[in-house]
Amino acid sequence: MVLDRTQSKLWFERAQAVILGGVNSPSRSYKSVGGGTPTVMVRGQGSHMYDVDGNEYIDYLAAYGPSILGHAHPAITEAIAQAAVDGVLYGTPTPSEVLFAEKLRQAIPDLERIRFVNSGTEAVMTTIRVARAYTGRRKVLKFAGCYHGHSDAMLVAAGSGPSSIGVPDSAGVTANIASEVITVPFNDPDILAKALEVHGTDVAAVLVEPIVGNFGIVPPRDDRYLGQVIDLAHQHGALVIFDEVITAFRFHYGSAAQMYDVHPDLYALGKIIGGGLPIGAYGGRKDIMEQVAPLGPAYQAGTMAGNPLSMRTGMACLDVLQEPGIYDDMARRAQVLTEAAHEAAKRHGVSITINRMGGAFTIYFGSHPVRNYDDANATDSDQFARFFHLLADRNILIAPSKYEAWFVSAVHTDEDIERTVAVYDEVFKELGQ
Ligand code: PLP
Repeated sequence: MVLDRTQSKLWFERAQAVILGGVNSPSRSYKSVGGGTPTVMVRGQGSHMYDVDGNEYIDYLAAYGPSILGHAHPAITEAIAQAAVDGVLYGTPTPSEVLFAEKLRQAIPDLERIRFVNSGTEAVMTTIRVARAYTGRRKVLKFAGCYHGHSDAMLVAAGSGPSSIGVPDSAGVTANIASEVITVPFNDPDILAKALEVHGTDVAAVLVEPIVGNFGIVPPRDDRYLGQVIDLAHQHGALVIFDEVITAFRFHYGSAAQMYDVHPDLYALGKIIGGGLPIGAYGGRKDIMEQVAPLGPAYQAGTMAGNPLSMRTGMACLDVLQEPGIYDDMARRAQVLTEAAHEAAKRHGVSITINRMGGAFTIYFGSHPVRNYDDANATDSDQFARFFHLLADRNILIAPSKYEAWFVSAVHTDEDIERTVAVYDEVFKELGQ
């Protein structure tokens, strides 16, 4: 039942001759799932995508998160078309950036001041600069396995100890930069407290994905954890940055911080807020944001920042997400998918663990709970790789990595869910053999 992927192979060969590695982002390669040719897509419509060979897929990749309205949603295409008619870039202030900033602040009142940038990477990178400017301190504390984009400091991995100074996780990141980053395990307030006792007076910011999306979906261990993170950071004079690039508007119309009734000092946003167009944003407390030029001494700029195309499309996306029932429907459909996966896995003797939050979930191969990066690492990569390919061969598209999530969008239908559930049985049967 293997799909014909002749054209994908041809295009990927051509791609490799001109685009480094054939991909514009390494996560799109199939390196983490035992290799193979990435499927080359030409069209998306609703919850489906179509490849160059004409195969159709139910899309749970959702472009790694942004496509919460699926593909070519009429509200999005209309916003893009209207913005295009008016010209897409002025290099001046525009009403659309004001309206969009107002809309974001209305949804997340902690965003007293906002700046738009072009990616999540830029958003996080700048929050760190702002935190350093505000506190006059040098170091950043982050959590193992969280991904915060590819700025130098964010490519520092955990060292060998539980709360150690990091080591460069990428060639080209200097030991000097690594010495500015402390990494501790997620979901362990005791280790965080100890790390802050040692390094606290140097720490400008504690940076966290409040609900982790980058070693699969991993929620905080209880309702108090994020509050503890914030209190500990503040006790040591450090700011708290929530990286909500994945989580903002993912689980409800607003932030993850609101779900836990906590207030970080700064936020980094991206993905969903652009409605599929390039975007990032950061913001938070007015007195902290006033560090940024032209008001303050911390510099940040961008030729494309706040471009009307992204602003108007992002606003259209948020308008749709304000419609009643959308988040409940995504959560309900995701629940059906995860319950059915549990049943099929059990039927065929395959051990899985599923973490789900609303419409997003991760299926891990292993029977232990996944609460931090070590737990996620300890899950079975080979089983996941087989799972990924077995699903792809049956027209179900998920991310090619055990560290990613399935995203149910606002336009997945009950029929999509039924088709997916029907495929599970065969897939888990093969995995159980
Ligand atoms: N922060 C988080 C939590 C992310 O998941 C990502 C990307 O996956 C980023 C930051 C970086 O965003 P971008 O890829 O838009 O630079």
